[in-house]
Amino acid sequence: MSTFQNHNFKNEKALIRVDFNVPIKKGVIGDDTRITSALPTIKKVLDDGGCVVLMSHWGRPIKDMEKKPELTKADFSLKPVAEHLAKLLGVEVQFADDCISDDAAASAAALQPGQVLLLENLRYYKEEEKGDVAFAEKLSKYGDVYVNDAFGTAHRAHASTAIIAQFFPGDKKMFGLLMESEIIAADQVLNNNTKPFVAIVGGAKVSDKILIIENLLEKATDIIIGGGMAYTFFKAQSGHIGNSLCEDDRLDMALDLLKKAEAKGVCIHLPSDSIIADKFAADANTSSSLSNEIPAGWMGLDIGLMAVAQFKKIIGESKTILWNGPMGVFEMDKFQHGTKAIAMAVADATAAGAYSLVGGGDSVAAVNKFHLADKVSYVSTGGGAMLEYFEGKELPGIAAIQNS
Ligand code: AMP
Repeated sequence: MSTFQNHNFKNEKALIRVDFNVPIKKGVIGDDTRITSALPTIKKVLDDGGCVVLMSHWGRPIKDMEKKPELTKADFSLKPVAEHLAKLLGVEVQFADDCISDDAAASAAALQPGQVLLLENLRYYKEEEKGDVAFAEKLSKYGDVYVNDAFGTAHRAHASTAIIAQFFPGDKKMFGLLMESEIIAADQVLNNNTKPFVAIVGGAKVSDKILIIENLLEKATDIIIGGGMAYTFFKAQSGHIGNSLCEDDRLDMALDLLKKAEAKGVCIHLPSDSIIADKFAADANTSSSLSNEIPAGWMGLDIGLMAVAQFKKIIGESKTILWNGPMGVFEMDKFQHGTKAIAMAVADATAAGAYSLVGGGDSVAAVNKFHLADKVSYVSTGGGAMLEYFEGKELPGIAAIQNS
């Protein structure tokens, strides 16, 4: 396997799978983080004297057009991205209206060093998500070197993310800079960590996080469980949780996890108290309570002050920190304190020398909301992919390049 950094792209055509699945409303790009994150990879190829063919998916055109016949392909076009990217790069970005047409092939063939071509949405074709080999082979003809820089889709065995790699020899397929940094960060936490290693897992549902917690039982010293999912654990231990979120069909599983943790010597920490509310609303009346003694009619929507102190101590003593999922309903001001305090504790521990990785949609949204993204060691861009990585699964987009 070659590394991107060491490869010289002079007079080569790099076919780069990027993740340009950014919010677009009426042709206007919203948060462009995914585009800006791909710039270093694109610029390196251009600076070397190579040219770039970019490919990405956007949304779910086939499924959405089936559900809503008023939608057309134009509603899923990557054209606005080409215009935005041109501004960011300061280089013209050519656009191919169809990712697999003769025109696209001709445009790719005619590219000169320094030039950039963006292909239209790969998911106009059902073959992309099906991982169709012939479709992948057609795409592979557009480049001399295949670069995968789309960590956000690395958990999918799609044509452009995994299947395509087989059409390039070992020294002509590699990860882009973004993907490489995601893999290094995840590996640092999972496999090269310095102990104590605390995993902070929050969010709504235990069922979504069960595989992660099970895998972390093999790796972590401490696991902090916060957010709505904590109440399933309290109920499983005969606690009173009022109207708090609970998955009644997961009570046995929660008990089982606690037992497994004990057997492995991993400390699971639940929030001893909670900020409770009389309804799920920003203007709810609030109070505080022990998390296993929540009165009827009330619900836990944030961790309480004792829990914050309890969790801050553990985080402060840790050398490796993984954080996935908020501690409460941080979107509402009344219930953001716990998540904010934990974000600040992670930032403080990082400043004191710990390695911290924040991954998964809502915890990333939280560190951004509290302006702490640059105070942690790494913020992952790949929500689902990062989750699967921490569940211990092999990601097809990584395996396709690493194992050949
Ligand atoms: P997840 O996508 O599973 O990480 O869940 C994130 C969501 O969980 C956020 O939208 C939070 O508002 C929500 N959440 C966190 N804590 C609670 C809670 N105690 N009760 C209800 N929802 C919560």
